[in-house]
Amino acid sequence: MSILQILAPFDGWCGTLDEVPDPVFAGRMLGDGLAIDPTSGILVAPCAGEIVTLPASAHAVSIRTARGVDVLVHVGIDTVQLGGRGFEARVRPGASVRAGDELIRFDLDVVARGAKSLMTPIVVTPMDGLSLRQLRAPGLVSAGEVLFEIAGVATAAGIATAASFETGTPPPRAANPPNEEAAAAQTLIVTLRHGLHARPAALLAQRAKAFGAQASLSAHGRTANARSVVAIMALGVRRGDELSIQASGADAAQSVASLVAGIQEALRMESAAGHDAAPDSSRTASDSSKTASTIAPRPSPAAGVLGGVTAVPGIAVGRATRIERREIAVTEHGAGRDQERAELERARVNVRMRLERMAATGGATRREIIAAHLEFLDDPQVNEAAHELIAAGKSAGFAWRAAIRRSIGALQALEDSRLRERIDDLLDVESHVLLALAGEARPMNIPLPERAVLVADDLLPSELTALDRQRLVAICLSGGGATSHVAILAAAMDIPMLVGLGAGIREIAGGATLIVDADAGTLQTAPTATAVEQARAAVESRLRRRAKTLAEAQIECRALDGTRVEVFANLGNVTDAAAAVANGAEGCGLLRTEFLFIDRETAPAESEQLAAYQGIATALGQRPLILRLMDVGGDKPLRYLPLPAEENPALGLRGVRTALAHPDLMRTQLRAALRVHPSDNVRLLIPMITDAAEILAVRSVIDEIKAEFGIHHRIELGAMIETPAAALMASGLVRAVDFLSIGSNDLTQYTLAMDRGHPELAGRTDALHPAVLKLVAAAAGAGAAAGKMVAVCGGVAADRLAVPILLGLGVRELSVVPAAVPAIKRQIRSLRINDCRELALRCLDLASPGEVRAQAAEMIGLLGDTR
Ligand code: PEP
Ligand code: MG
Repeated sequence: MSILQILAPFDGWCGTLDEVPDPVFAGRMLGDGLAIDPTSGILVAPCAGEIVTLPASAHAVSIRTARGVDVLVHVGIDTVQLGGRGFEARVRPGASVRAGDELIRFDLDVVARGAKSLMTPIVVTPMDGLSLRQLRAPGLVSAGEVLFEIAGVATAAGIATAASFETGTPPPRAANPPNEEAAAAQTLIVTLRHGLHARPAALLAQRAKAFGAQASLSAHGRTANARSVVAIMALGVRRGDELSIQASGADAAQSVASLVAGIQEALRMESAAGHDAAPDSSRTASDSSKTASTIAPRPSPAAGVLGGVTAVPGIAVGRATRIERREIAVTEHGAGRDQERAELERARVNVRMRLERMAATGGATRREIIAAHLEFLDDPQVNEAAHELIAAGKSAGFAWRAAIRRSIGALQALEDSRLRERIDDLLDVESHVLLALAGEARPMNIPLPERAVLVADDLLPSELTALDRQRLVAICLSGGGATSHVAILAAAMDIPMLVGLGAGIREIAGGATLIVDADAGTLQTAPTATAVEQARAAVESRLRRRAKTLAEAQIECRALDGTRVEVFANLGNVTDAAAAVANGAEGCGLLRTEFLFIDRETAPAESEQLAAYQGIATALGQRPLILRLMDVGGDKPLRYLPLPAEENPALGLRGVRTALAHPDLMRTQLRAALRVHPSDNVRLLIPMITDAAEILAVRSVIDEIKAEFGIHHRIELGAMIETPAAALMASGLVRAVDFLSIGSNDLTQYTLAMDRGHPELAGRTDALHPAVLKLVAAAAGAGAAAGKMVAVCGGVAADRLAVPILLGLGVRELSVVPAAVPAIKRQIRSLRINDCRELALRCLDLASPGEVRAQAAEMIGLLGDTR
């Protein structure tokens, strides 16, 4: 009797194989063991032995111990399809390793996004003649702790067979020599997308075991025992390879036929799982151009399963819930032109106030969507059409609805699906106004039962925000688009969402238990109890992982080599500030104060500004608050500050130029900023700088206010690097300030001469253009030479591919949207500044943003989290 101890290959949450959402592992087809939901990306050997398989994709590894027991660690489920993205092998097949030796590194974030689950089975395969003693109860486990023990001696045949096949020798004979006559063979081309990886190998081994015949598989001049999953995987059969299946023994022909059928079954499973679909990252609401209307929903993979398009990834289990949408009745004929016009105006004013209030209490995403709704509310075409109808004798309600529907008709005729997705926004604004006309308001709180999966044909943004978030676990729409505003809101609220599920969802009974796998794009309408259990386990494991990332986000952030990098958040209001603190932001790197100034009739008074800034400073606690002076003008006009008509507003009076042209406005803002308590936490940032004189002009007003208030300490002042001029002159500018903050959004726009809001140029206004990077390098170099902090607060700071490049160029503070803080901190912790420097230097000499992105992707995928 021998005992073999299997150790945890990484830190994580230990569970059972039943929690693995894959029947091959959960059904113990590969063997017995345990599973761990990893919380670290370093996989160490669970026992000593020889590396038998470690495919190029590096998502799994198996070790054969001296006693011939094979132990397989398969990182996550469906990770083979990542094709190695996010994984790096640290040993080669054939290497001898000791327990605890590092075998694979993987990027938890990349793998989590691309995998069906991160639950990692650790199994002894096969278990023939062995018994397992579980030593770990479910719970947190650290790498190197004993998970379970294997007792017993494997059968000579089992072990010898697996070992000999690795060396390419033919399979040993069974105890009863098979009938030499009874032999069968067949050769085929493997068309499985990922070749014979773990799942098909397990299926084949299961089938081979069902027959007495000795079956083997051959490819690349090597032969494997068809009963050994590890041996099959070790053949390294890829898509397009030739595979021979042979068997000898009484039921040889049946065995070969069954193995051929096994490969076909694996093919069916592959297409049912949608493995030919794009990776998950291209199907999220934020970055996908796919919508339910532009790509056909996947066909229903099986009875009781509907295929849809992922709008927001995630998994949820809950009960089908529908909400009632009331038709708002309108009378056709009006009570006279003046009265109806006045009614419409009153309703629009009420709606505007309401929307502005909602914007002030929501996060940045909600604010942006409401800004779009306000645009529709004031849209001249809609309003003119409504007024014409009123003049023709119609009621305000009838006219407003007809005017909106006319615009919807125009959108419906468009090819551009993203524009068609705006129809929901128009409908939303329509109903806001109709309700206001009727003297009602949209319900702010729509009650839901526990664990509600909302099932509907469509959903309006305002309906979503009115739903009880605590009870809503997923959204499933028969139509809809993955880039619609409601999908963007759902993403911000982190609610898994499928769109384009088709009319089938109308059949779902209210209260039915549903499994929404928005990662895989499927909705299970009649799941088995086991499937429900597995899905619940997957949900739990995600929650645990997220909790861990969030917990880590509260800790100071350093790169792998110890270099300190600060991660701040960009804020617009006090709600954002609370979210930033909860997400581990170390301060506010950019407070966009202009939100306080725009969309109103008069400028905010000093006291109003002070209250807003103080609220944010208080929410931030002792963390620094970088308050940017109002960046108005250009794309952010003010109604109460008529600016001259400009041919090119983006090149006109904006940022600091507007402030200097209206010194009273600037002085009021600076007074409010300097009254914030504690004032030494407040730093000021000047937008749109082009020369040092602008900085000195602002500084002199600050000095005057300081003298008036009796402030003696230095108020730190920063310059935004948003123009090529500022970047090129950074070494001079930096002498006049305490820090630099790179506004990559404008810097990109002005460097590439491409409007940052131009829909047709959206794909080309890329901050990773080498020309922009050269300017970032100039600013970062100037800051470093002067020993002053250089931050990036533009959108590129939250771009995973940009982070190593920015750090490599010398940036030491990133300011991102609050929700991105944990992931950015986690990524920084996996990077080594020297690697980043090498990458950044290479990127400066590349020819296009595409090439830069490819280099960065390679570094993140292959080197990220490394060494
Ligand atoms: C920028 O230009 O990158 C920036 C942060 O400023 P804004 O996006 O507010 O113009
Ligand atoms: Mg800017």
